[in-house]
Amino acid sequence: MSIAMPHKAVWLINYIFGEKIMLGLMQNWPLTVDKIMDHAATNHGRREVVTRSVEGPIVRTTYSEIHARAKQVSNALLAEGIAHGDRVATLAWNSGRHLEVWYGAMGIGAVLHTLNPRLFPEQLVYIINHAEDKLIFTDLTFLPLLEALKDKLATVARYVVLTDKDHMPECGLKGVIDYESWISDHSAQASWGGFDEHTAAGLCYTSGTTGNPKGVLYSHRSNVLHTLLTMQKDVMGLGARDVILPVVPMFHANAWGVALSAPAAGAKMVMPGAKMDGASIYELLESEYVTFSAAVPTVWMMLLQYLESTNSRLSTLKRVAIGGSAVPERIMRLFEEKYGVEVLHAWGMTETSPLGTLGSLGPEADGLSHEEQIKLKLKQGRPPFGVEIKILRDGMQAPRDGQTFGNLVVRGAAIAASYFKGEGGDILDQDGFFDTGDVATIDEHGFMHITDRAKDVIKSGGEWISSIDVENVAVGAPGVAVAAVIGKYHPKWDERPLLILEMAKGASSTKADIFAYLDGKIAKWWMPDDIVFVDAIPLGATGKINKLALRETFKAYELPTALVS
Ligand code: AMP
Repeated sequence: MSIAMPHKAVWLINYIFGEKIMLGLMQNWPLTVDKIMDHAATNHGRREVVTRSVEGPIVRTTYSEIHARAKQVSNALLAEGIAHGDRVATLAWNSGRHLEVWYGAMGIGAVLHTLNPRLFPEQLVYIINHAEDKLIFTDLTFLPLLEALKDKLATVARYVVLTDKDHMPECGLKGVIDYESWISDHSAQASWGGFDEHTAAGLCYTSGTTGNPKGVLYSHRSNVLHTLLTMQKDVMGLGARDVILPVVPMFHANAWGVALSAPAAGAKMVMPGAKMDGASIYELLESEYVTFSAAVPTVWMMLLQYLESTNSRLSTLKRVAIGGSAVPERIMRLFEEKYGVEVLHAWGMTETSPLGTLGSLGPEADGLSHEEQIKLKLKQGRPPFGVEIKILRDGMQAPRDGQTFGNLVVRGAAIAASYFKGEGGDILDQDGFFDTGDVATIDEHGFMHITDRAKDVIKSGGEWISSIDVENVAVGAPGVAVAAVIGKYHPKWDERPLLILEMAKGASSTKADIFAYLDGKIAKWWMPDDIVFVDAIPLGATGKINKLALRETFKAYELPTALVS
């Protein structure tokens, strides 16, 4: 029986068919995201949302203004004929206006589709057409990109530029209009919600490293439950006193839910707009008294380099969530040991809304030395209530011993059950778990450690070598800027690791120096069979190492050890 059915209908069917189910007698309060912004405006209405605008100046607004303007967006969308289930897209940086569009669209049951500008143009065309987006909201930054693609975007009837009339350039996009003019005549009264909590709310495509990107269609219910689970004390633990700077973009895995959890907590938001360099982020952290921030390791590397080179301190920042790829030890140590900032190592994916695990330490860490605690914090952490994880090796559940690698599978309140329009077929196993494509271990306390992507793990003589672990050590060698490890064919061992390095400018380390550095830091049989230097290691659309491209570049390469065996 569908849980989406209204209370009374379920009761009636049970009554008629004589099923012995006693329903609770509590209110039916559908979990829809509009309630989050209603709550923020009612209870934290004066709390600020501060944006570094694409036009330049810092713009200050409040939840109460965002709420009113989001309602204007709803009315403007309705006037465009946007109905329940219609997809409207954003190609935009984190900003107050972007937040208004999210709530304005979701509040009336439209589906908010976030587009990642870092995807290849052909992928964007594919995604927009696949989603059948009717309207695209864009920042000024992306007008040239959209102008180049517009003839291929069959379903888009109008482009709304997130700016005002004074900043609107000449532009040949269909129906193009500046956001301020588009909402200006519309009322700030609109009715939100009132639909089933299982209604689709958001759409985000996976980055599609193999095949076409696939759409993850979040529901209002999954978004609200994800919000509640990220707010738990041992997860992001957000509160009304927090000032949150989400560097993680709203277009990649929902800014890790912060665009929903910050208003739910009544926390002040600081939106970085298009500027994510070390100096710009530092300026906002200090001038807005930011206490919590979230970003991928590359962004933190830029900030830390800035702090180191300018001898600056962080005066208010208390905690940072880092995820998207593994946290390098250097970042962990600088934050925790030098700048007094707690690092929360998080793992997740588009399909998991995205938060899956997070590395807050519990009482089991109390007796550990600082070094042991750092080691534990470098793991990706434990699932919060609402997420279940386990490791499968050859189809069997692996022991929780912190040693046995296997495929990481996940089940929970905000995990995808299938992709948009059925792409990719059935994605759950018979127990309802989703295979993440990651390879991991879980220890006795439940801490998960990602050791690889399933397709990147190096299978050497029946054992598995973690390319990520080797990369994390290699990146600590003097002069190394980026390190990547791929498996190459070996006649005796099937595969052996090849270490590919991009060096920092002016670095002088030789192959022998790097081998000497690795010696003793990784297991002997994990030692790469060769090291090669390249000018640049290719990165994918979400800033991660593009191993597919590396494998292609090194297709004809043969390991010296393979030639001699
Ligand atoms: P995406 O859906 O683009 O966010 O990518 C999700 C993938 O990023 C995961 O399946 C992991 O392979 C990787 N990932 C995310 N967080 C981490 C982390 N903390 N450590 C290692 N890999 C991560």
